Amino acid sequence: MSGYDYDLYVIGGGSAGVRMARMSATYGARVALAEERFLGGTCVNIGCVPKKLMVFASHFREDFHDAAGYGWEVGARTFDWPRLIANKDKEIARLNGIYAKLLAGAGVTVHEGRAILLDPHSVSVKGKSYTAERIVVAAGGRPTRPTEPGNELGYVSDDLFCLPEMPKKILMVGGGYISVEFAGIFNGLGADTALIHRGPKLLRGFDDDVRGFLGEELAKKGIRLIFEQIVQRTEKVAGGLQVTFSGGSQERFDAVVYATGRAANTEGLGLEEAGVTLAPNGAIPVDSFSRTAVPSIFALGDLTDRVQLTPVAIAEAMALSRTLYLGEPTPMDHSNIPSAVFSQPPVASVGLTEAEARETLGALDIYRSSFRPLRHTLTGNREKTLMKLVVERASQRVVGVHMVGIDTPEILQGIAVAIKAGANKRHFDATLGIHPTSAEEFVTMREPLPEPKRQSAE
Ligand code: NDP
Repeated sequence: MSGYDYDLYVIGGGSAGVRMARMSATYGARVALAEERFLGGTCVNIGCVPKKLMVFASHFREDFHDAAGYGWEVGARTFDWPRLIANKDKEIARLNGIYAKLLAGAGVTVHEGRAILLDPHSVSVKGKSYTAERIVVAAGGRPTRPTEPGNELGYVSDDLFCLPEMPKKILMVGGGYISVEFAGIFNGLGADTALIHRGPKLLRGFDDDVRGFLGEELAKKGIRLIFEQIVQRTEKVAGGLQVTFSGGSQERFDAVVYATGRAANTEGLGLEEAGVTLAPNGAIPVDSFSRTAVPSIFALGDLTDRVQLTPVAIAEAMALSRTLYLGEPTPMDHSNIPSAVFSQPPVASVGLTEAEARETLGALDIYRSSFRPLRHTLTGNREKTLMKLVVERASQRVVGVHMVGIDTPEILQGIAVAIKAGANKRHFDATLGIHPTSAEEFVTMREPLPEPKRQSAE
């Protein structure tokens, strides 16, 4: 047993910190964890989980409309924002309780408060000092805003989960995950919704066909997309905010939301004092074993700015606890991470985009299909589905799979297993479809697009 108060001290009770603490305690370490706000972190409290509940809530409007084509008469519809928020809060409180129980059950001591590093082996929480053989920093990230005048008048995603009432006219700023997800939520709930993005297409980093297709789908649903402009100035006016766009026009909104990226929560943690040098963007540089430059200090999750996704943070924590407390050196594998954007329709991807594959692999076979899903043949809903396979021609390995449409994230999770296992196009072709589904299209696409004539799906 080490001469320290604990074998491991974890700073931050989010997805990475809780998993690190719990697994390490299960493997026999004496563990304490400090959390200053809420157990479960961003994902459980002000991120993935409540966001997905709000996506469900917002999709009913379309479902009620679609029901008519199937013979249903749906009566008058009203939406009660405070009821949604109250029910969501109840569920999140239940999850907080589960997290607390899991930690207690594993024997982890929880300190409520902000932990600050004093040196490579000690932290201070609410004026009390604790020593530990190892310290894991997993304090997460926070939303950032651009610096144009008046931007502080807008909300960030943290604020959207507890607004007392729903804005009737809203501007989402940014073309990334959070902006397109909340544009879908507010549009679905009936708000007049616009999205402004400085680039020419949504979701930079995703496959180009997906980016164009999603833009068209969002526009069909009534979201006003403003590309290649920024918010130049925001001013408070009677009953709302007056926004001046870089194109020169002005418009009044009830609310403006900045979804322009997130920064590492490393400020004031005592990291530099303990010897950890931060990257220019404030993130903690780590190696594949989540080691910082200080041998006793490790870092996990969003504040390392590797890939800001909950399952990635959890996998990093599992790998590190196995390495440190099971004696099984486990580097984190960041390849082929599937991800989904819960826009409406949703997007999901695993592996390389066509552009990335062309750059790194050379000749490709591209299979692409877009169609109206069976569900919408009776509804009049014009939503379409896009599916795309990126195949390395020489090896026939499927190196990228991309989809936009109903149930996309559920479908891509299974496909991601095949990609991780190294599946090639012959495996896809030999797999029988489940009929009738949209997903079966992934195993029935036979003709690659003729390369010279290939046109984007936009
Ligand atoms: P993203 O990085 O996804 O998107 C940020 C957007 O803001 C981009 O479109 C970016 O444009 C734009 N932007 C950045 N700076 C400025 C600026 N100064 N002025 C105008 N526009 C700007 O960040 P999010 O905040 O949406 O989400 C943060 C991360 O959280 C995501 O990257 C993702 O990892 C994670 N997340 C995951 C979710 C999921 O798994 N479903 C859901 C929500 C978040 P450009 O593209 O030109 O850089």
